[in-house]
Amino acid sequence: MAEPTEKKRIMVVVAHPDDPEFGCAGTVAKWAVQGHDVRYVMITSGDKGTHDPEMTPERIANLREREQEAAAKELGVRRVEFLHHPDGVLEANLSLRRELVLVLRKYQPDTVLTIDPWRHYQLHPDHRAAGVATIDAVISARERLIFPEQLTNGVKPCRVSEVLLFWTDSPDYWVDISDSIERRIAALRKHVSQVGGRADLEERIRQWAQKMGEPQGLAYAEAFKRLVF
Ligand SMILES: [Zn+2]
Repeated sequence: MAEPTEKKRIMVVVAHPDDPEFGCAGTVAKWAVQGHDVRYVMITSGDKGTHDPEMTPERIANLREREQEAAAKELGVRRVEFLHHPDGVLEANLSLRRELVLVLRKYQPDTVLTIDPWRHYQLHPDHRAAGVATIDAVISARERLIFPEQLTNGVKPCRVSEVLLFWTDSPDYWVDISDSIERRIAALRKHVSQVGGRADLEERIRQWAQKMGEPQGLAYAEAFKRLVF
């Protein structure tokens, strides 16, 4: 199974801060070390992610953006872009698709990682919406007659070669993260507002990665559904 050898542009598009660290950050860390240019796009800033009655949506969003930037730095991600949609009420509508198409056309990624929206019982509406909107954007970004008003000032259509869907129940592509699992755990720990009290965090991450790697004979892996274009 081919892993990127030439330097690639990789974009991770997710609903919330911490989604990449829970889903695909071992792969991100591995590819960043190999010199690939990895960027994150956060559709929301997780502004509903608190049970603290003293916390406001603005304050938790700000805190989570800082946590996400710290996690990205730990992994070698070069840039984090926040689209600032409200958390918890995300819809895969035309407006979000248009926004993601522009991000794709500006960055021109070869590979896009996002959440599998078709996993059975993917109950989180934001996770479903983020996955659908991202895949729809990948398809639309190729066509010069779709959102043609974006194609000015050097912005060109974007042809993504592959999409890797994480949190999938139909995996067909595995990445060996044995050398990067420590950095994934370290990055996840940066999300203090979300995982600060979880003593079993490291053990859980190791168990998930072991389970994903086992059928492939890998100590630790992340599993994806791969769509090739
Ligand atoms: Zn999430």
